[in-house]
Amino acid sequence: MSSIRVRELLEHATKHKYGVPAINVFHYESVKWAIEAAESEKLPIIIQVYPGFRDHIDLKYIADFAKDMAAKAAVPVAVHLDHSNTFEVAVAGIRDGFPSIMLDGSSLPFEENVRLTSDVIRVAKVFDIDVEAELGHVGSGSKLEDIVDSSNYTSVRQAVEFVERTGCDSLAVAVGNAHGVYIKEPKLDFERMNEIRCSLSIPLVLHGCSDIPNDQIQKSVNLGFSKFNIATEYDRAIYQAICSNVNPEENRGSFFRLQSMASEEIKAFVVGKLRLLNPNNYSL
Ligand SMILES: [Zn+2]
Repeated sequence: MSSIRVRELLEHATKHKYGVPAINVFHYESVKWAIEAAESEKLPIIIQVYPGFRDHIDLKYIADFAKDMAAKAAVPVAVHLDHSNTFEVAVAGIRDGFPSIMLDGSSLPFEENVRLTSDVIRVAKVFDIDVEAELGHVGSGSKLEDIVDSSNYTSVRQAVEFVERTGCDSLAVAVGNAHGVYIKEPKLDFERMNEIRCSLSIPLVLHGCSDIPNDQIQKSVNLGFSKFNIATEYDRAIYQAICSNVNPEENRGSFFRLQSMASEEIKAFVVGKLRLLNPNNYSL
């Protein structure tokens, strides 16, 4: 039995100065590959699901099998619902059995974000569920202003007030990071990250970690950030691994065999992220 709570895992990671990749999954194999990579490295991992994929796969269904696979894994594996942006989506995630959820009220004004996050946490506490919140808006890497405009970044003073008032279990912050593909290489605001780390005791989360240069990721780990969301790059690694194993000459191909052939490359991508996030060579 190797399920672990997200908060417990992140507190452990913060204490031991390693980062946990939070890998966005969307089907059975994407969960399996990520967990097998973590097992091969003997390191913990977080499996997370974006609720926007609910039309592709029933969220309860993926929560059920991800939790079952986590329980049977040889390393600690935590399961989490990513980016719920309304009360209803967050509470539906609790109903569907996610042991941890994110409530993202970061596009709302501060007071409304506090109110929505607090409302969700009140429900989550009844069910003993962990809640990640977001303050400062992590925008899109395709928009230059979302990366470079520091007025969107997390205010240290507001972060302290936000955590005190909401009681969230972890906090995602905006410090020059953004979602999706970056049009310009991101430059994380380490001074602000350090101030936030020194001002809060809960685990800190970095979204949009795909394509952030390796040295900046490792510096973030050493500053005490512990959850690193990786969606775009994992999706791309799967795409590229499938493409590189397709044989255009073969017109009686097997998709099952193709997936199996691609799996080693995909797992190698996750192994690379696990090693990158473990600059101090923590081992279980
Ligand atoms: Zn995000």
